Amino acid sequence: MAVTDHVDLPTFIEGVKKRNPGQDEFVQAVQEVAEDIFEFIEDKEAYHSQQILRRIAEPDRIISFRVCWEDDAGNVRVQRGWRVQNNNAIGPYKGGIRFHPSVTESVLKFLAFEQTFKNALTGLPMGGGKGGANFNPKGKSDREVMRFCQSFMTELYRHVGADVDVPAGDIGVGAREIGYMFGQYKRITNQFTGVLTGKGLEFGGSLIRPEATGYGATYFLQNMLTTRNRDLAGLVAVISGSGNVATHAAEKVTQLGGKVVTLSDSGGFVHDPDGIGLEKINWVKHHKTHTRGRLSDYVKQYPGASFHEGKTPWGVPCDVALPCATQNELLAEDARTLVKNGCFAVSEGANMPTDLEGVHVFKDARILYAPGKAANAGGVAVSGLEMSQNSERRQWKEAELQQLLLDIMAGIHESCLRYGRESDDYVDYVKGANIAGFKKVADAMLAYGV
Ligand code: GLU
Repeated sequence: MAVTDHVDLPTFIEGVKKRNPGQDEFVQAVQEVAEDIFEFIEDKEAYHSQQILRRIAEPDRIISFRVCWEDDAGNVRVQRGWRVQNNNAIGPYKGGIRFHPSVTESVLKFLAFEQTFKNALTGLPMGGGKGGANFNPKGKSDREVMRFCQSFMTELYRHVGADVDVPAGDIGVGAREIGYMFGQYKRITNQFTGVLTGKGLEFGGSLIRPEATGYGATYFLQNMLTTRNRDLAGLVAVISGSGNVATHAAEKVTQLGGKVVTLSDSGGFVHDPDGIGLEKINWVKHHKTHTRGRLSDYVKQYPGASFHEGKTPWGVPCDVALPCATQNELLAEDARTLVKNGCFAVSEGANMPTDLEGVHVFKDARILYAPGKAANAGGVAVSGLEMSQNSERRQWKEAELQQLLLDIMAGIHESCLRYGRESDDYVDYVKGANIAGFKKVADAMLAYGV
């Protein structure tokens, strides 16, 4: 019988780079995970010989399709759409859809890979997937967005299903887009199923789904602080982003007694030393989501604040930071600045916001650092609960869902402690999340055979 050679970490990474040319984001995500997994599987022959990590880092399938739609002026526009079905060892593929000009196959592959570990961490039966298109909803009319969503689903419908692959929202895809896509799925298939999550409450959506990612990232932060006998009261928080994740993180940090001093968008960041309290957060939510305006307008509304064009907020001194915008928004030099200025806890609301070198800066400084796949899992967790509600054809009560979200985030934190504790006073949450997520998926894959 042929025995697969044990490759070492550098050889493995070389192979990933060679097989995925030009896909930097994907290689980065795999590398960050592989560093921990290689250590964990060193003495575990089955994971090696069955090539488990190699298989998780090779998507089950990638569906790539053309999306044609007509703009308001009557021009035919052409875009590319994808669905990356990464791994369904522990449940149907599950993960968001992203509409943003930066979307490429590499970005969606990294997100689907991360999602596989994240979903496993929630404890719910969900595999990992991600989809999207290089479509920019910004500046498009409501009708244009509707036509794009319908066209996107006209292709996607044949690849998804409540027991097959269940997409949801991500950057550029919120309640409006999910509504248009769900409507199109229902129209084409004549079936009312839980094929998407993040739906409106009137048609099978779950309470607290919009809040879940931001609240969850804050609960995770709180869990980390507890290990050092601290809590959020009186702490200064720097938050990036101003979408669904960032505004709900800001809301929860404020409710728990912290002071949020920044938010950002692609134009720059707002610094409000008085604190961005609940009333101001509501203004941002309304201005960004309903009016679809710019964050720079904040200073007209609240003149005590300043707007820093083209800049990220990491230079503002703080105790805790929550990157809630997008991938690679926090680079090694930003990480060094944060640590130098006394930031001692980072909880990632976005997916892979910190670059690989920045992750090492946080680890070396031994601060409390939670990677996105652990910290932002609250969103997909409540999506999982939406799937359960859809299967039961029921809608659960808010108090019940709030408690489940708290319990799931505490459970993820426990898993990170279990596999990431390095010493009495230091937990490597990246390692903990990677190993805990990997183990569950890997053991299911072993059970199935090749
Ligand atoms: N896009 C979110 C994430 O990155 C949520 C996915 C979902 O609810 O399926 O986890």
